[in-house]
Amino acid sequence: MSASQQTIFEKILAGEIPCKKVWEDEHTLAFHDISPQAPVHVLVIPKTKIINVSHANETQSEILGRVLLTAKRVAEILGIATSGYRLVLNNGKDGGQTVDYLHCHVLGGRSLGWPPG
Ligand code: AMP
Repeated sequence: MSASQQTIFEKILAGEIPCKKVWEDEHTLAFHDISPQAPVHVLVIPKTKIINVSHANETQSEILGRVLLTAKRVAEILGIATSGYRLVLNNGKDGGQTVDYLHCHVLGGRSLGWPPG
């Protein structure tokens, strides 16, 4: 894949585009969403590329677990672990996925409506 075909999140991982980092470890990166939909809106991405859940396979189960554990850590760091929060993985066109690189939204800091629009 050429650089021009990379998703924005791969460019962030490569350090080509800045982000407001919340957490980084060997497996994951968490950063503030550029267009926050709640007082806390962070994206957690794996460092190994998976397009979305539909493209994940059995060998990637640890990566998927790491994403969720980082989401939990983000909630603790940003002080919403007790008040509650929502984790969202938009998947494909009808799921509202606009970036083809798996990411988990961590949303909180206010009461969130359900169902989503
Ligand atoms: P989705 O619609 O689930 O694919 O979510 C993609 C998210 O990426 C959206 O909430 C965007 O606001 C967010 N986003 C796009 N570009 C950036 C960026 N450069 N830094 C942080 N978040 C971004």
